[in-house]
Amino acid sequence: MTAQLIDGNQLSKQLRTEVALRAQALKAKGVTPGLAVVLVGDNPASQVYVRNKVKACEDSGLHSVLEKYEAAMTESDLLARVEALNHDPSIHGILVQLPLPAHIDAQKVIEAISPAKDVDGFHIASAGALMTGMPGFWPCTPYGCMKMLQSIGYDLRGKHAVVIGRSNIVGKPMALMLLQQNATVTICHSATPDLKAMTLQADVIVAAVGKRNVLTADMVKPGAVVLDVGMNRNDEGKLCGDVDFEGVKQVASHITPVPGGVGPMTITMLLVNTLEAAERTTKS
Ligand code: NAP
Repeated sequence: MTAQLIDGNQLSKQLRTEVALRAQALKAKGVTPGLAVVLVGDNPASQVYVRNKVKACEDSGLHSVLEKYEAAMTESDLLARVEALNHDPSIHGILVQLPLPAHIDAQKVIEAISPAKDVDGFHIASAGALMTGMPGFWPCTPYGCMKMLQSIGYDLRGKHAVVIGRSNIVGKPMALMLLQQNATVTICHSATPDLKAMTLQADVIVAAVGKRNVLTADMVKPGAVVLDVGMNRNDEGKLCGDVDFEGVKQVASHITPVPGGVGPMTITMLLVNTLEAAERTTKS
């Protein structure tokens, strides 16, 4: 079997076209969806990420503001900026790029963002909303994975999903989203004694670890769907995921590539969340 690719670039293009149309409709009502991206310090990877986010907004007709601050910015100054953005009517979504410099308590900053503008979905209120099935913003990366499953018409009811990784931004919310769609969910992590015994039972595997070749062909049940969230570098310095792509694609029914899989979906879902935040202001 050679797995069918779930193309994150193509799906993103389709979803971003829908975002652009919905943004136009909102503009006609006098509301331009706006995202504020706050970057503190000069982490080179973060600079690339925030540039891509701002560009994606512009390309889809969303208003975006990039606020850049010196690494020496104090925590109280950052909290004051977040508070000002909470009250800025032209801004519907606030994203504080992580990691923050060590002297700033990142969780405190995230909790300072109004849950109504928490388009990253990292606020404790957003996590609680996801857990209880209430309306809120879902973290963009697992939300993008759900859209990928939806794009292939995959019905999770009665399926066994195995999530490898339990971070607050990917693994745990991913597991909750799969559970919400009636999958039976297993979460694996670094203390899981026999990962292969778990993954071999899975109809869907989401790898979100950050280590190359965590998932190899011998660990995958024939016909399983494999989503690769990992972002790593191979020996040649090229971007690769957590999954041994060449091996696993011979066994799986569907697989996401890296690059061009989950990565583009993360930014797309940020646009979707920002648009949704703006739409909600017109409904209340
Ligand atoms: P993280 O916070 O470092 O979490 C990694 C998880 O993997 C932890 O729960 C850890 O277990 C688990 N783990 C480590 N080694 C393992 C092993 N050998 N077997 C099973 N589980 C193991 O990372 P993250 O933020 O969730 O990100 C995971 C990966 O996704 C990274 O490569 C990151 O760059 C990538 N990522 C990609 C996107 C995207 O847009 N494509 C977005 C976010 C993240 P413990 O909890 O026991 O330590």
